Amino acid sequence: MHKLFSNLVIWSESQYSHLPWREKRTLYKTLVSEIMLQQTTVGTVLNHFERFLVEYPTIFDLAQASEEQVCISWKGLGYYRRARSLRSVAIQVVEEFEGKIPTNLNDLLKLKGIGPYTANAIVSIGADKKALAVDANLERVLSRFYGVDVEKGPKLQKKLWNDFEHKKIMAEMDGMSARALNEAMMDLGRIVCQSRKASCTLCPLKPGCKAFQSGDPLQFPVESKNKISENLFIKLLRVVVTNKKKILVYQKSAKEWLAGQWELPTFVLETNDQKLKQYPTIKIKQNFEKLPYLKTGITKYDIHNYILEMSLEEFEKLTKRIDVDYIFKTNDMKLNMSTATQKVFKTLAKNSQVC
Ligand code: SF4
Repeated sequence: MHKLFSNLVIWSESQYSHLPWREKRTLYKTLVSEIMLQQTTVGTVLNHFERFLVEYPTIFDLAQASEEQVCISWKGLGYYRRARSLRSVAIQVVEEFEGKIPTNLNDLLKLKGIGPYTANAIVSIGADKKALAVDANLERVLSRFYGVDVEKGPKLQKKLWNDFEHKKIMAEMDGMSARALNEAMMDLGRIVCQSRKASCTLCPLKPGCKAFQSGDPLQFPVESKNKISENLFIKLLRVVVTNKKKILVYQKSAKEWLAGQWELPTFVLETNDQKLKQYPTIKIKQNFEKLPYLKTGITKYDIHNYILEMSLEEFEKLTKRIDVDYIFKTNDMKLNMSTATQKVFKTLAKNSQVC
């Protein structure tokens, strides 16, 4: 098996060593890139990583920045919870570890916002010490290679970590670079061993792969029986009220999705998700399907945004029973606007109806 994994590392290094977070590797670069790469593609991170590092060259710079400033720098990467969490990790590292990012799992897991995956990634990829960074790519590659018949998700991740600890899998790491091996498996999962397509003929691990030998590699990892419906939709009303170059917005509270961001008054018009609580529900008289419209999406949702411009008086009539603090703010690029709000203004500008 050792030979197979060496070939995998050679394959990966020949193609992907140019990624900026892999050049002149530091623990800080690893921390930033690992958090950026969660839920965001390599292509998108490539457009933001170096600029972020110029703005915050050290963990001390990041710890000193305000939350709003870091969220603005995070624009384009989405899932802003990660930006806030990265900043709070930086503060904790500065306050409790004199600015030195720990390189052992116990200390890393004490950092609020660092879960088992990121902790293992910092140890293995950042410090090049023995650990297994089981992200979605490693989960897939390892479950296929070893033919692990356990339902995808936390159970499977736990099983892989446990088997690794007991040297039932990846025992080859003992004589190899943990960094190179983890990165190579991530590359393989991203490029060759993808969730809906396994290009086994191109794969350096093929000669030892159980999933390939089974003739149906895509049966691994085993899908959860409770898989949530992928067809959830939300029809939202985004209301635009302007007053002397100012717009009416509200700020998401710390406990809410998109915490800290400014957003246009937003209401649910229709949804098939009964559990949705992020926005108040509202009924309007006009046929909203005829309003200017844009589509956005997050994870499992299709979001249809209908844009309605109105006066402050009309807005107050419409929302008299809604308990949200709306205020007028300058529509300034420096304001930490939600991505959807920015898109609404782009759509309106395109239609020449405002701005
Ligand atoms: S041989 Fe196929 S299933 Fe196995 S790891 Fe490679 S691409 Fe994935």
